[in-house]
Amino acid sequence: MRSFTYHRATDVPGALRAITAEPNAKFLGGGTNLVDLMRATVERPDAIVDISRLPLTEVEELPDGGLRIGALVRNSALAAHPLVRTRYPVLTQAVLAGASAQLRNMATVGGNLLQRTRCPYFYDPASACNKREPGAGCDALGGFNRGHAILGTGEACIATHPSDLCVALAALDATIEVESLRGIRRLPITEFHRLPGDTPSVETELAADELITAVELPPLPFAVNSRYRKVRDRASYAFALVSVAAALEVQDQTITSVRLALGGVAGKPWRAHEAERSLLGSPATDPSFTTAADAELTTAIGRDHNTFKIDLARRTIVATLRQLTTTLTP
Ligand code: SF4
Repeated sequence: MRSFTYHRATDVPGALRAITAEPNAKFLGGGTNLVDLMRATVERPDAIVDISRLPLTEVEELPDGGLRIGALVRNSALAAHPLVRTRYPVLTQAVLAGASAQLRNMATVGGNLLQRTRCPYFYDPASACNKREPGAGCDALGGFNRGHAILGTGEACIATHPSDLCVALAALDATIEVESLRGIRRLPITEFHRLPGDTPSVETELAADELITAVELPPLPFAVNSRYRKVRDRASYAFALVSVAAALEVQDQTITSVRLALGGVAGKPWRAHEAERSLLGSPATDPSFTTAADAELTTAIGRDHNTFKIDLARRTIVATLRQLTTTLTP
């Protein structure tokens, strides 16, 4: 058994000092992913800084009508919050589509942003995995890759990002606030996660000594008409094969505003910019939705076992947009 030190932080500056003092330390929030990774010896920290008691547990309305979500808000509390449910239903639906009730009661918003892939080779120390051990190779490329990525991949890693919540945050243009002893900075969520490229072990722009303190949502009135649709192998407690987060505004049968993001298809929550460009100004009809999906998926690459995801993504995009259009019909 590998030993590590444990420090419980009571305020943000104390947590930042503790993480800065130990180069191989990890923050512990809900622990729903980190503890699994430590058991599998994928994560091997020398120190744990427990941040679960920090005062980052509020959901607050911002003066502009947006929301500020503390990084330690539990997923179940986020999903149930009245302002989230009414203004950003896609976020509530995404959270409730993930994990189990017990896990959602423990998991935090900040931790969800940092959860690591569920690629089975990543968790198996006997397998070659560039993400776990840079330069080792990737057993998923020639292995069982049914659940793996079709967009933004390379030859170093084809793992998917597992989060549902982050897909909704990508569609909503969330901003991530991070803090270190050097100060505070804010990153758009679309720039927070990284595609694997040649360095799949580096998954985010977060520095080792930085703490996620909050997620901010901009005001987005048309997000009241938003939806999260998740396709998976079983009805609960399964990761997405493909998921779609979408918000849609239609006036006189024409799409005037749209946000679209995909999950289960890339190494990061995938904001569907090409599809959005195609949809804006188009009639809210199935042919427009199909054209937009095709525009987004032109660069998709299927492997031995996951080519079906390309068509599944196309059909899930169309079905989600159609459903949002239907809910607008008087
Ligand atoms: Fe590792 Fe990525 Fe390959 Fe999975 S897909 S084995 S995480 S390098």
